[in-house]
Amino acid sequence: MKGTDVASRPEDPGHHRSTHPLRTCVGCRRRDRRSHVIRVVARPVGELSVAVIDERRRLSGRGAWLHPDPACLDLAVRRRAFNRAFRRPVDTAQFAVDFRAYLERRHARSDSPPSSLEAGHYPHGNSMSTQR
Ligand SMILES: [Zn+2]
Repeated sequence: MKGTDVASRPEDPGHHRSTHPLRTCVGCRRRDRRSHVIRVVARPVGELSVAVIDERRRLSGRGAWLHPDPACLDLAVRRRAFNRAFRRPVDTAQFAVDFRAYLERRHARSDSPPSSLEAGHYPHGNSMSTQR
């Protein structure tokens, strides 16, 4: 299941030169492939909006793009880049926490395969050591 592709954007330029659509990171302002950046959307909470990670890239609305890099997060927050990207005040306090947790999760996942988790059991029958 790949999911229904609803990538028909009216703003999509008709160039067929670029095979990989580029997105501008709101942190470092560099352009990168879509698969290299994380999508961020603003979700209304009460009277304000908070930035949230769109992990599955299926939330509707205007999106901002950010590298999976704490430095880019820092820059984006300092420049209030999300306010500009979403054209409204966006709270990023919780987002910063979530983003770092997300990065750690990503890192942990690629670092240690889940199959090695069961290696911590004690060998059986070895406790009868007679040390005389
Ligand atoms: Zn960046």
